[in-house]
Amino acid sequence: MTAVSRATTGADALPDYAPVPPSAFGPPLNEQGYHVGRVERNLFWVTDGTYQSAFLLTGDGVVLFDAPPTIGHNLRRAVDEMAAAEGATNKVTHLVYSHHHADHAGAANLFGDDVIRIGHEDTRRLLLRDNDPTRPAPDVTFQENYTLQVAGERVELGFHGPNHSPDNIFIHFPDHDALMLVDIVNSGWVPIFNLNLSEDVPGYIDAPGIALGYPWQHYIGGHLGRLGTRADIELHQQYIDDIVESSKDALGKVDPTPYFVKYGPNAWAAVKGYLGAVTELATKPVVAKYTGVLGSADVEEFTYSTAFMIMQSMRLDLGAGSQVHP
Ligand SMILES: [Zn+2]
Repeated sequence: MTAVSRATTGADALPDYAPVPPSAFGPPLNEQGYHVGRVERNLFWVTDGTYQSAFLLTGDGVVLFDAPPTIGHNLRRAVDEMAAAEGATNKVTHLVYSHHHADHAGAANLFGDDVIRIGHEDTRRLLLRDNDPTRPAPDVTFQENYTLQVAGERVELGFHGPNHSPDNIFIHFPDHDALMLVDIVNSGWVPIFNLNLSEDVPGYIDAPGIALGYPWQHYIGGHLGRLGTRADIELHQQYIDDIVESSKDALGKVDPTPYFVKYGPNAWAAVKGYLGAVTELATKPVVAKYTGVLGSADVEEFTYSTAFMIMQSMRLDLGAGSQVHP
């Protein structure tokens, strides 16, 4: 048997999922594997279909927002293409980090040492910790707010506490009717595992509401193939609200007794069985409701692990169900 036919056999054995709703997809990619589009005026966005970045063409140079390594050298091509079309300089002078994660920042070193790098003070702290040459720490940092002004263009950077990561910021373009907030809402798709791999559950749940508090029409979420709208944020909020409600409902329905009777002194086995049953029950109605509405909603592990994280946050952050021994 050849390697190719083995691979085919392997793929055939994998599970099938419902078709992704067409509304989840964005514009087609070009031959090099990227799409660059105008958000408004001189603000542009770039995608490889999975990751997103953005840049502002100004009279003094290009301001880049994130540098995902999967887009990599196509960032340069996208900037060159738009700068040539607009008759603007293609020299990247500034780079703003949304947060410190390598999947959004690991091509930062492609733009040389002369670039002014800007980010939250915790982004600097975490990048110094990580000591990764592809992600040089920002030289310009801020704690709560920072207004970036380049050649008369204005960008407002805001920090509202930890959410997906401890250092994730809101990047508002008040003169371009746009907001960039990465790794919170995947426009048209469900969050992936564990609440989109988030560290602070209450912060992650609150972030979309904070985003809607800013005025904007175009959302750059950092992932997948299209820009988002305010309706995408609201749909995401509804999905999370449904998981919260479904989790509360499931907690009230599953009786823990049989798990503790069965496993006796093996307390962790009982906990595993009980929480697994609650999470399973909480997941089912949400998967059914959003299949065909959000991409990958029927990849049950995503909703399951997100429901599990939310339920544990109710218990650990909010103190729900906590009982003091008499
Ligand atoms: Zn991230």
